[in-house]
Amino acid sequence: MEDKKPLLKVKNLKQYFRTSSKYTVKAVDDVSFDIYPGETYGLVGESGSGKSTIGRSVIRLYTPTAGSLTFDGRDITDKLSKDDMNYVRTNMQMIFQDPMASLNPRKKVGEIIAEGLVIHGICATKAERTKMVERILDKVGLAPEHIDRYPHQFSGGQRQRVGIARALIMNPKLIIADECISALDVSIQAQVVNLMKDIQKETGTAYLFIAHDLSMVKYISSRIGVLHQGHLVETGTTEEIFSRAIHPYTQSLLSAIPRPNPILEKLRVAKTYDYATSGIDYDKGSKHLVEGTHYVLGTDKEMEQWMANNP
Ligand code: ADP
Ligand code: MG
Repeated sequence: MEDKKPLLKVKNLKQYFRTSSKYTVKAVDDVSFDIYPGETYGLVGESGSGKSTIGRSVIRLYTPTAGSLTFDGRDITDKLSKDDMNYVRTNMQMIFQDPMASLNPRKKVGEIIAEGLVIHGICATKAERTKMVERILDKVGLAPEHIDRYPHQFSGGQRQRVGIARALIMNPKLIIADECISALDVSIQAQVVNLMKDIQKETGTAYLFIAHDLSMVKYISSRIGVLHQGHLVETGTTEEIFSRAIHPYTQSLLSAIPRPNPILEKLRVAKTYDYATSGIDYDKGSKHLVEGTHYVLGTDKEMEQWMANNP
């Protein structure tokens, strides 16, 4: 992987929101990570930790307060040229948590899926577009006759397939999936994650897979970043995070995953993490390399203590 160039480079990203003359929300504070072509980077953290803001900054719905964003070799940090804007709008796509809210209820599924093609003038004829939509419907496990139905005629899982189809038809290099399975039943979650994995194998698209817990992230991500209060507290390969998480917040997330084996589930002890009483100050910490691509945010003293607890 080292010799491959990252598809997306997020470097020291800060995204602040000024909410009043006295107060600024530091939604994202000095976050760095890379996503390589065809891989999945899982971004995990509790509600309000800044996950969606990172997704929106990356796709340039916001202009970063500080730091830099590089996508496929293009600097997309500041005001985008028309060409770069078009490049981002076609090669990066987003899948949202609630497909009912993000799919226009008055439009037929076929029109919804083809929308990006129409906006960007990608397919010349209607017949060509219909053909593409049919092919994509098949790819996401829906039938050709679904083309003339409306979003409300689908189940939650099917609607999310429509959301995926809409993103996929643009043949993007990166798909940002913002809690795209959180609203689905657990059994359906696994189906959608498997579908996304199959699609990735076939198309080579990369994912930024955003979730509030680690349970499904494990099955789709090659690397994981753990976000808390706008700070990336730990990042590494899925193996590194699951076998030797160092940061107490990561450990609390790991201990919250239900175990499929009922005996082990009974033994599971959920660890709590309270930043306010932990004595930890993210602003005083710096990025420490554990090994490989495994980094933890902490002070030298905190690192020493955490490493001693996790030999
Ligand atoms: P997550 O997706 O992890 O739940 P968000 O990125 O939505 O978190 O939000 C992170 C923090 O930034 C929250 O405290 C939220 O209230 C705040 N925030 C997000 N967007 C805005 C905005 N446009 N203006 C002000 N504050 C915002
Ligand atoms: Mg969110």
